[in-house]
Amino acid sequence: MLQIAIIGYGGMGTYHVELINASDRVRVKGIFDIDEARGKAAKERGLYVYRSYQEVLADPDIAAVLIATPNDVHKKLAIRALEAGKHVISEKPVTITTTEFQEILETAAKADRTFMVHQNRRWDEDFLTIKRLKQEKLIGDVFHLESRVQGANGIPGDWRHKLAQGGGMVLDWGVHLLDQLLFMEDSRIESVYATLSYVLGDEVDDGFTALIRFESGLTAHIEVGTTNFIKLPRWYVRGTAGNAVIEDWDLSGRMIVPTYLEGIEAPKPIQAGVGLTKTMAPPSEEATAEKALPEPLQNKTSFYNNFANVVLDGQEAIVKNEEVMRVMKLIEAIFTSARENRVVTEIDE
Ligand code: NAD
Repeated sequence: MLQIAIIGYGGMGTYHVELINASDRVRVKGIFDIDEARGKAAKERGLYVYRSYQEVLADPDIAAVLIATPNDVHKKLAIRALEAGKHVISEKPVTITTTEFQEILETAAKADRTFMVHQNRRWDEDFLTIKRLKQEKLIGDVFHLESRVQGANGIPGDWRHKLAQGGGMVLDWGVHLLDQLLFMEDSRIESVYATLSYVLGDEVDDGFTALIRFESGLTAHIEVGTTNFIKLPRWYVRGTAGNAVIEDWDLSGRMIVPTYLEGIEAPKPIQAGVGLTKTMAPPSEEATAEKALPEPLQNKTSFYNNFANVVLDGQEAIVKNEEVMRVMKLIEAIFTSARENRVVTEIDE
């Protein structure tokens, strides 16, 4: 059993405890939080509460720390832990910039310790459904996909409103959606064009859109919103032989595919607005068929067990640092594109 201490016992730190303790190879020994009230809450839950970060790092029982603090302190805490000989799990976004992440990677290499980022949404069933559909060409070759999360509750909490703390939605939900995209499309990124929204008047973005083009021909529209009272589907995917939609987290959705039957009657023109159209009329009934979405791909190894397998047995990490770096480079390109109102290239070398 790998013993771990959670650093930052807020929303996510609290959430990790049960999941870690349900894994086969990792256990939470205790937590450290600069806020005493959070320490009290952890104590009531029966967790050991460290009085300082130094105390965590000096504890020989602790093999690793899991950093679940606001984004601006990930780097500092990670480097201290690695230099003290601990392995590290960091919450996403790993850091605010690629330069900071590079510093962590160099420290991890020097200390010969494992550093892994919690990109947990690679395990989301909606994502694993789309990944299968694309991989198995169930709607032909996917040439365009739209991946969105939209809420109407604004930016939550305190530090997420602050630029210096790595707030904003690109660094929050954006990281997940971009990680999922790059995890299922390894073709070179040709370009990105992005816009950020500031509807709420914060100093950080409260949402964004990014159009990403890959060398393979795939285009992806990635969007996060926090002021959307009317939501669009979670996924909308177009392939050369059909379309797929996933409406929401409950995996409601469908695929519509052409039947390729011979002798199908041409669609009849319809009245559309003040004109007639045949182009935009619904296809004749026999021309298309509705199909159920496939079962999600299985991703059986939990993130925590995989981390333990990497640390204890030298196995391959499910979340690789070079993949995380690619996402961080894309994020920097999104900020540049939005700031300078231009298409950004040269993201992948
Ligand atoms: P939060 O504000 O609820 O909790 C952060 C906690 O860290 C607070 O209790 C705070 O007192 C503590 N803290 C701040 N500085 C500290 C320091 N130097 N040392 C120790 N403790 C410190 O925030 P949150 O929503 O839990 O987010 C924390 C991290 O988790 C962020 O990086 C966020 O992006 C990430 N997160 C990930 C997911 C996911 O699905 N992977 C979901 C939510 C949040």
